[in-house]
Amino acid sequence: MSKKKFKDDNIYKVRRVLVGLGFILIVFVLYKLIGGIILIFRPDDTNTVSADSSNRVVNNQEIEFYENPIQEVIYEKTKKIYKDTSKREDYYNKAVNLRSKAMGRADQQSKDEKVVYLTFDDGPSNKITPQILDVLKKYDVKATFFVIGELAEKNPEYIKRIHNEGHAIANHTYSHDYDYIYSGVDHMLDDINKLDELIEEIIGEEFVGKIFRFPGGSFGEKKEPYREALDELNYIYYDWNSVNGDAEGQKIAASKLVSRFNDTTGAYNTIIALMHDSNTKQTTVEALPTIIEGLQAKGYEFKTLGEV
Ligand SMILES: [Zn+2]
Repeated sequence: MSKKKFKDDNIYKVRRVLVGLGFILIVFVLYKLIGGIILIFRPDDTNTVSADSSNRVVNNQEIEFYENPIQEVIYEKTKKIYKDTSKREDYYNKAVNLRSKAMGRADQQSKDEKVVYLTFDDGPSNKITPQILDVLKKYDVKATFFVIGELAEKNPEYIKRIHNEGHAIANHTYSHDYDYIYSGVDHMLDDINKLDELIEEIIGEEFVGKIFRFPGGSFGEKKEPYREALDELNYIYYDWNSVNGDAEGQKIAASKLVSRFNDTTGAYNTIIALMHDSNTKQTTVEALPTIIEGLQAKGYEFKTLGEV
């Protein structure tokens, strides 16, 4: 074989590889384009979506989802934490396993019935909490209050009222101080314990406890030891799958809170709605009747996280 022929052969091989790669690239781009078009035209009708299942890619493998708000939330968080898809699967599976006990009961109901868990964080406030309680009473619906220690100490009468009117009281840490509680599992457990004891002092042995919400949510790699510790202690912790957006700014108009709530509830059969009853959230009170009426019109049953 002459030197020139050998060289030509190599050029030919390189060209063949380049043509092959170009072809793969074109197929990939077409695949993505078609995927995008299908997404754009996907029907946004609640009836079809609730009966639908969708597939999501984790670690290049498809994982089948039924309409399940919790897995949905975990998946979205996983995507944010890990840009690299190959690392997602392990975290996703771990998160789902850790959460299965916490969320299993809520999940089971999601396929058969429409349930909403209204939750109010960061209270009780002597200004906002009584107004929230009045609205709930007017509509005869129950909610869950994730209270914090300093305010429970200041406003024990509202802890009692929440409890006496049939709502659930749950733990959102004593201090709600991120620097302290997330600087060691022991700190967080002490803080939770301190608040459990305080609530029990206020409402007595009827307080069941063990229902918890992480300040800022339970997600993220850093919180893994915290999740595991709570799991061992049989605490059930809940995040949320819908918001009214009252933590996304100051004095947001009630109409905006309602539309944010409607945008985030989508087609969920089980809704865990995050709202706040801290001192500055007057518009949360104003938006609440419309939110409740909307949910009632859609046939949702209102439950507390203590009774799932
Ligand atoms: Zn909070």
